[in-house]
Amino acid sequence: MKSPAITQAMGILRLLRQITEGPDAISVKLDKIISMIVEQMQADAGACYLVVDDNYLELFASYGFNQNITHKINLRVGEGLVGDVAASRRPLTVEDAWKHPKFSYKPEMGEEKYKSFVGVPITRFGKVVGVLTLQNKKEYEYSVLEVEILETVSMFLSELVASDEIKTLKNQLIRERGQSGKERYKGISLSKGYGLGNAIVHRRRQIVTKIFAEDKEKELQKLEFAHTQMNKDLDEKFNATKLGIGEHVDILDAYRMFAKDKGWYKKIADNVSSGLTAEAAVERAYEDMWKRLSGTNDSYLKERLHDLRDVADRLLGYLSGDTGKERIESNDIIVVAQTMGPADLMDYDYKKIRGLIIEDGTPTMHVAIVAKALGIPVIAKIKGIFDEIKTGEQVAIDGNEGYVYLKPGKQIQDKIKARIAEKEEMLARMAALKDLPSTTLDGTKINLYINVGLTFDLDYFSTTNCDGVGLYRTEIPFMASEVMPDVDQQMKYYKDLMDRAEDKKVIFRSLDVGSDKLLPYWSNSGEENPAIGWRSIRITLDRRAILRKQMRAFLRAAAGKELNVMFPMISNLAEFEDAKETLMIELEKEKRRGSDIPSKVNVGLMIEVPSVVFQLDEILKHADFISIGTNDLAQFIFACDRGNPRLTERYDVLSAPFLSMLQEIINKANQHKVYCSVCGEMAGNPIEALALIGLGFRNLSMSGSSLGRVKTMIRSLNIEDIEDYIKILLKSNKRTLRPQLISYAYDHGIEIY
Ligand code: PEP
Ligand code: MG
Repeated sequence: MKSPAITQAMGILRLLRQITEGPDAISVKLDKIISMIVEQMQADAGACYLVVDDNYLELFASYGFNQNITHKINLRVGEGLVGDVAASRRPLTVEDAWKHPKFSYKPEMGEEKYKSFVGVPITRFGKVVGVLTLQNKKEYEYSVLEVEILETVSMFLSELVASDEIKTLKNQLIRERGQSGKERYKGISLSKGYGLGNAIVHRRRQIVTKIFAEDKEKELQKLEFAHTQMNKDLDEKFNATKLGIGEHVDILDAYRMFAKDKGWYKKIADNVSSGLTAEAAVERAYEDMWKRLSGTNDSYLKERLHDLRDVADRLLGYLSGDTGKERIESNDIIVVAQTMGPADLMDYDYKKIRGLIIEDGTPTMHVAIVAKALGIPVIAKIKGIFDEIKTGEQVAIDGNEGYVYLKPGKQIQDKIKARIAEKEEMLARMAALKDLPSTTLDGTKINLYINVGLTFDLDYFSTTNCDGVGLYRTEIPFMASEVMPDVDQQMKYYKDLMDRAEDKKVIFRSLDVGSDKLLPYWSNSGEENPAIGWRSIRITLDRRAILRKQMRAFLRAAAGKELNVMFPMISNLAEFEDAKETLMIELEKEKRRGSDIPSKVNVGLMIEVPSVVFQLDEILKHADFISIGTNDLAQFIFACDRGNPRLTERYDVLSAPFLSMLQEIINKANQHKVYCSVCGEMAGNPIEALALIGLGFRNLSMSGSSLGRVKTMIRSLNIEDIEDYIKILLKSNKRTLRPQLISYAYDHGIEIY
């Protein structure tokens, strides 16, 4: 005999099928589904929320609440009762929602009349994709039976959520939000954060039309006046801006020196004396310099050339009396520029700048470094946007995802405002956490390191108080540069990092290019399977000069300090020994040259290619340390392209095969007493870090932005319990162990969000 729950569920499922197979549009179907469930379950109201945007749930259909609220209610995962269901991935029944500590009142819904609440998650492949809720006016305890029925219904809904109709609806919503009176553009993010404000279109380049001067003397006076005024204004602006210390200050100082450079000024004055107008003389001086420097391979000089163009434009503005600055009355401005020099930001009251959009731009662009230091989000590389935006227009920017919204609608504005508030809250939380130890409740210290690529990442040294750098992806500066950096240039990057790290551990990884990491100055090899092709250590062993130069730069940057060098994508001991020998030869050469050498040199490798796991005992006798690159290791273990969106949900690192392999690695490293860390994305995700700690890992390296969340998790964890639980989990044959781990965290009060 069927249980009453199954009988009732089957009745509902029959009706569900009728509705979904009907001719209505998907939004109408969803409304009909909710009102049908409300009626069948004898509830008074119901709602269906779907995850639209990572951690956000949006109301897609409702019954019994105010009219016209569909798509207007958004909740963060974890926020309110609905968010709690999504976060815990478990049903929640509450007799009186108003008395529940997590209840979050949404007046626009009109939920005043309802008391009892039941919510069940809608999940797909172990991931929450929505929440289904019912409410009644009376205080009422929903029975286990009713919850079971709702769970069955939610399984049906999870199929519907994955349907093309819902995907089309979501895409349509995204498009509408980007369009109806507002447009959405995608660029690349050079500095993260959110901003909302009125656009100011930054100076357009002036075209010099008058070439020959009528009166040289007058022209010289004009030049002198403009030059003096420009420098006076620059000094004032710099002094008025609180810049603190760091690379951005050096950049601005260099710029100021440029503007005052006597040689440059003399060239312009000479050009005027030879008969040119002051404007034409500035252009000629720039052209001369450009001819001399543009052929150079030195990226530092190339960057200087940008600054010079900018100083020239600035001077042209003073000469014409048109500084090209449009003015608006607003306390929140978003500066939009075609290109920009580092000092240009100072033309505006930086305290009012909420964002910067640059049509051209590279991550190493000086203005981006200065903006980042001032906490301004920056988005670059959006073709045509400079002509699109008019001064005064409203603009919203999402510097995390790299989106710019022109004339954003209320929904986008609300979303951006909410994210700004969240970011402030997060910064406050991070600041509060900074000096607290990353120690579990039962007293085990977990060392937390940051992964570094761009200079910006170094800021996390001061904001997180981490234990050091567990992975320096040295290819990032190579990728950001227009030409291959030479030994001196590399040494400068590496030394900067060593200086910032003070005495903390820093692990340098040798160049890991190829596959998805391409260098702009190298042609793409066009391989069929680049992820398992000529990449990483395979390239640098074949192009030994590149490896040798990099080793030399490491050795010089770490003179007098401990140097840790790690080789990526190593496939066997012989390959590791080969790479290591290159480093040792360079060390010998440095000694013979009489150069200062590091006080100690440790050599390690990344565990990314599965073959090394089968030679680990031997490898651990020869390596000073190992670090597991779970991103690559997982793609090779599961034979699953890490960049293929169709596969992202198919295999999970939180599953017995992968976790068992990690268990094997950490056990062996402990037996051999070799330092072992995890530096792939897994380490930065609280629930995955929880599993790693349960397996025995004590060194985790992650993006600086994840460190606060992982530290919070660690500080709420009892290590012994999770170690026992993981042992049981490893015997499970489920596709993913994620739901079990999340439930475990939830039951044990471990903070994983
Ligand atoms: C990894 O593969 O996990 C890793 C840390 O290296 P990358 O992501 O840079 O390939
Ligand atoms: Mg890798």
